[in-house]
Amino acid sequence: MIYEGFDPVHEKLRESLCVLGNGYMGIRSALPGSKSSETHYPATYIAGVYNTLPTKISGKKIFNEDLVNCPNSLFLSFRIEQGKWIDLEKTEILSYRQELDMKIGILTRDLRVRDEAGNITRIQEKRLVHMELFHIIAIQYRITPENYSKSVTVRSSIDGAVENEGVARYSALNSRHLDFISSGSVKKSVIHLTARTVNSKIEISQASKLKVRVAGEKKNKTIRIIKGPSEINQESSFIAKKGKAVVIEKICSVFSSRDSVRGALWKKASQCVSAAVSFEKLLNSHRSAWRELWKVCDIKIKGDIFSQTMLRFNIFHLVQSASKNNVHIDAGLGPRGLHGESYRGHIFWDEIFFMPFFSSHLPDTAESLLMYRYRRLPAARKYAKKNGYAGAMFPWQSGSSGKEETQTIHLNPMSGKWGPDLSRNQRHVSFAIAYNVWRHWIITGNLKFLNGCGAEIILSVAKFAASLCSYDKRTGKYHTKGLMGPDEFHEKLPGSKQAGLKDNAYSNFFIVWTLLRAMDVLEILPDGKNRKLKKRTGITDNDLVLWEDITRKMNIIMNKDGIISQFQGYFSLKELDWKSYRKKYGNIHRLDRILKAEGRSPNAYKAAKQADVLMLFFLFPFNEVAKIFSRLGYKCDKNMLKKNYSYYEKRTSHGSTLSKVVHCYVAHLLGMKKLSFDWFKNVLEADIHDFKGGTTLEGIHTGIMGGSIDIVTRAFAGLHIDEDGATLSPDLPPGWKQVKFKKGSHLFLQK
Ligand code: BGC
Repeated sequence: MIYEGFDPVHEKLRESLCVLGNGYMGIRSALPGSKSSETHYPATYIAGVYNTLPTKISGKKIFNEDLVNCPNSLFLSFRIEQGKWIDLEKTEILSYRQELDMKIGILTRDLRVRDEAGNITRIQEKRLVHMELFHIIAIQYRITPENYSKSVTVRSSIDGAVENEGVARYSALNSRHLDFISSGSVKKSVIHLTARTVNSKIEISQASKLKVRVAGEKKNKTIRIIKGPSEINQESSFIAKKGKAVVIEKICSVFSSRDSVRGALWKKASQCVSAAVSFEKLLNSHRSAWRELWKVCDIKIKGDIFSQTMLRFNIFHLVQSASKNNVHIDAGLGPRGLHGESYRGHIFWDEIFFMPFFSSHLPDTAESLLMYRYRRLPAARKYAKKNGYAGAMFPWQSGSSGKEETQTIHLNPMSGKWGPDLSRNQRHVSFAIAYNVWRHWIITGNLKFLNGCGAEIILSVAKFAASLCSYDKRTGKYHTKGLMGPDEFHEKLPGSKQAGLKDNAYSNFFIVWTLLRAMDVLEILPDGKNRKLKKRTGITDNDLVLWEDITRKMNIIMNKDGIISQFQGYFSLKELDWKSYRKKYGNIHRLDRILKAEGRSPNAYKAAKQADVLMLFFLFPFNEVAKIFSRLGYKCDKNMLKKNYSYYEKRTSHGSTLSKVVHCYVAHLLGMKKLSFDWFKNVLEADIHDFKGGTTLEGIHTGIMGGSIDIVTRAFAGLHIDEDGATLSPDLPPGWKQVKFKKGSHLFLQK
């Protein structure tokens, strides 16, 4: 990816799109000499490092847990004589080129600047976040005076005075997550800084080693240490000569007390950078690590260079957000990766879109993400119990502890008003987790994981799923209430005091699927294990009888034309005048905010944020959906799906990018190839063009990235994997000549 020219308006977007990371941490690609401003937002995130802060809003104390923006160890700048520190916002830029090399995980910048005194300098930066030595970040920074020979001072810092400022909507909330603890130096070349999160008390130590060479000569003796109240700096001054490059290396390390480190953290961080030999050496090992990664992750497309590049872009960001380094840490992967602060770095159901990628290509990584959930089963059991349910209910938004982190009130940026947030009633997140475990087993055939932890998740979720259902003698059916489907515009029936909906089709169907799979799991497990797990999860023979009954009598509402009602009462809602809303507002993705700002409720309209009913046809093979429908006594054929597609698509604003993935897949399933490919292009462009207008700068969308890969493999390449093996029935988009990938090679071998 190449950017020509500096574009301050879109710089924050670029900073997200060019993040470098390795699963352990993610570093926004802000210029090394920048601080948080209108134009820049440098940030460092460590997976799993959260902190909770209280804020008073309208007299009420609310608590929010955030993925913490850690101290900035990347700061690097210079000045010529007594001039100002080079700041691109204030300096004349003569040329600028930025390149993200996704093959080897390197970001480079090459620019020429002229300061007020007319000095012209060429700056070349190369940066990496090491994929193997996952605590290490390295920068090589070359400055070449083009028309002067003068004294130059370089400054390298670790800045501990950072806050979470990445999302404008959250600016009313407390954002100072860090207390400064200490700073110091080891010889003159290494500085370190330690901070601690205010409430979660996680220590973070960072070290930075500076090396300066002027015209090939080492200048380390000239380094001075300057301590600030919550920062530490190194400065080195020398005479830079016209046409001779000054080469600066800055090697940083990042550790937190969540890592198993013996002894003082700052010592470990300092030792780590001291031991690093050079940028070039680090670059070599980093490059090899990426080479290995691409061997297992790449998808090659012949005939469509745009799709090829964007797919690789998506793969690149996914493996930077979670990688084999996750095996060493306890962290999930959120919808915005390690790229920004939107949704506070919480973990959602979006996993369902990217887990197939990890299960297929990086199964160990997939297992560490599933283990993040497994470790939080006790919290999920507690949450279920607190809400009057059995089994394990995972929170809609999960952070460090596994308790519910969904906020209770939500700011509408259109009206500036805070309103209630009921989205936690999306209990379907638990079914998604069970689904991810099951699909991981299907893709990998790894009985060890299923036997070990996977089965316990599925069984615990099944127990919860059954406890959501109640039997009504009058209808002879099982029903659910108080739940929301994926469509977040519908939180309850208009005028109702009770949060959530009755008989949300997506949830009801998914409950049945979960129960069926849980019964399969009990069959698959060896006898002893089976008994042990039943005991541990409290599953009795009566449960099994109940489960069987639910899987035959769950209620799904359908009208005479075969349109599945998203929930009870949906068909009586008002139609929205889509045309006039589009005309008036242009972008109506977030119709909920528009309607609320107008004093209306989205609950009142047949208007969805994202696919809800159609989501079923994305997740499950058509035959499986039809089989479950038939088990429940309903008809389901492609003709009916077609009607549902055109009914719901018309009534969806696609306010969540995930919606486009689903529509793309379902359109393909229905043979609407051109339409499906149009959706696909939309999916691929969502982040680079920031389609939702300002959301990507707050972090990329991992769900849509994972979804794009899933579409290529499941829809276009037609790879279908189930208990009986794998089949391929390719149906490539126009122009595509070939798709090549290594999906599930271990599975084919095994079969
Ligand atoms: C979507 C959810 C999604 C969340 C995080 C919301 O806008 O409606 O389905 O989980 O974003 O990506």
